[in-house]
Amino acid sequence: MHQHKAPGHASVTISLKPIGGVPGDASAEQMEAVADIAETFGFDELRVSHEQNLILPHVRLDDLDKIYDALVDADLADGNQGLITDIIACPDLDYCALANARSIPIVQEISSSFGGGERQHAIGDLKIKISSCINACGHHHVDHIGILGVEKKGQELYQLTLGSSVDENASIGSIVRRGFDGDKISMRWKPWSRPT
Ligand code: SF4
Repeated sequence: MHQHKAPGHASVTISLKPIGGVPGDASAEQMEAVADIAETFGFDELRVSHEQNLILPHVRLDDLDKIYDALVDADLADGNQGLITDIIACPDLDYCALANARSIPIVQEISSSFGGGERQHAIGDLKIKISSCINACGHHHVDHIGILGVEKKGQELYQLTLGSSVDENASIGSIVRRGFDGDKISMRWKPWSRPT
């Protein structure tokens, strides 16, 4: 929920980032449910954000409980906006011929690794973005952790960028090194359980 300039109102972000799910996806039934919520509580207005979530830009504070209940019913009440599981991902190899490496399975692994219980809330605000090629549709180069799919000798690899910022002190992050494999990026690889 975010403050609104009109007293008694707020804007509400609806997360499309279920834990372990495909970022930005919604079923036909969920889209119908969100359309109904926007019609009933949101002055018929609904926006899609670049963060691959939905936004009800104007709702009454008095309706927040009802909106939450409707989102629970639609399985859309993940309260993870801005957390480690709120990952922006490009559609990768299955949908874009330019992709060098898969991004969605990597996102699902990271989300599953960190989304359980209170873990993501304990970590706090942390933005991860992933693009499957240098066109950077996921804007991987401008946030806390950026992942870029690269191809080397037919192998899908990932380049990591850390420490970018898009606030008033905008800065480009540092590339850690070239070519991590997917297991290391997605946390399937556990350094304490598998010797290098
Ligand atoms: S970043 Fe590359 S692979 Fe991903 S959607 Fe954009 S052009 Fe396609």
